[in-house]
Amino acid sequence: MQIAFIGLGNMGAPMARNLLKAGHAVSVCDLSAEAVAALVAEGAHPCATPAEAAREAQLVLTMLPAPAHVDQVLTGPDGVLSATSPGVPIVDCSTIDPASARRLAQQALAQGNELADAPVSGGTGGAAAGTLTFMVGASEALFARIQPVLQHMGKRIVHCGEVGNGQVAKVCNNLLLGVSMIGVSEAMALGVSQGMDPKVLADIINASSGRCWSSDTYNPFPGVMEGVPASRGYQGGFGVDLMLKDLGLAAEAARQSRQPLPMGALAQQMYQVWSAQGQGQLDFSSIIQMLSRARAG
Ligand code: NAD
Repeated sequence: MQIAFIGLGNMGAPMARNLLKAGHAVSVCDLSAEAVAALVAEGAHPCATPAEAAREAQLVLTMLPAPAHVDQVLTGPDGVLSATSPGVPIVDCSTIDPASARRLAQQALAQGNELADAPVSGGTGGAAAGTLTFMVGASEALFARIQPVLQHMGKRIVHCGEVGNGQVAKVCNNLLLGVSMIGVSEAMALGVSQGMDPKVLADIINASSGRCWSSDTYNPFPGVMEGVPASRGYQGGFGVDLMLKDLGLAAEAARQSRQPLPMGALAQQMYQVWSAQGQGQLDFSSIIQMLSRARAG
């Protein structure tokens, strides 16, 4: 299939790579020439604008940071909707707010294109391994159409309901993730401050009731696990500013439905402090350094 893939960052690049490996013809577009060149070296076709990528595509995929980027890439002057043929489905895998997803879907439908929101979980490791979970908001018919392609990038493709519902599921998951990472960071930092070996402590937590993804798959303490951002200076992975964005999406959803979110609000403020201290590009598990620094200071 001829696929347009727009947004080749930490997640988009490995996802596009898996589509190439599966034998699809992939046209790629990103603001970063380096990111485009890396995929072109593996067989992708380079495009200067989202419109150019979308023109011949039978399916358009986007993987962008935040709502404003998705808006621009889809509806801007050189955007996807200015060039794509009617009937071509658009699948946005970015994490954005449900309301924006629904609004963009209406705009797309007005010119004959169905849009699905399909945010993912599983991190950069899952993107590379093709084991992501996709949370899809789409009509039954569109879900059936896009599922075979998403299966080349993910292991679990879950239909969450109509457009926007994928984002609802994703925002709730990341609210919990943002909070749990701070909880694991507190526990690890406390144990080490009390003279505990961090690896032994992590083993105990991971065999006990405190176990969670932040402790057993993505532990924030340096050296406890191999292959995670904590063991490479918090480079790559899921940025502090992206987590901050997701907690903002949760806060906005909570405001709309008058749902209290006390832990989420505190977590949001902690990542905000860390970002304001210039650490927004580090992986979000670096939040443990803020707690360690507070102690050192
Ligand atoms: P990223 O910042 O690494 O990549 C985003 C890419 O989009 C960049 O390469 C950027 O140049 C490109 N881009 C921005 N504006 C563009 C435009 N107008 N035209 C073309 N390209 C443009 O982000 P990421 O980590 O890949 O995350 C992407 C999305 O996936 C975010 O919404 C994030 O919340 C979500 N997500 C990330 C992870 C993770 O672990 N990194 C996990 C699950 C979901």
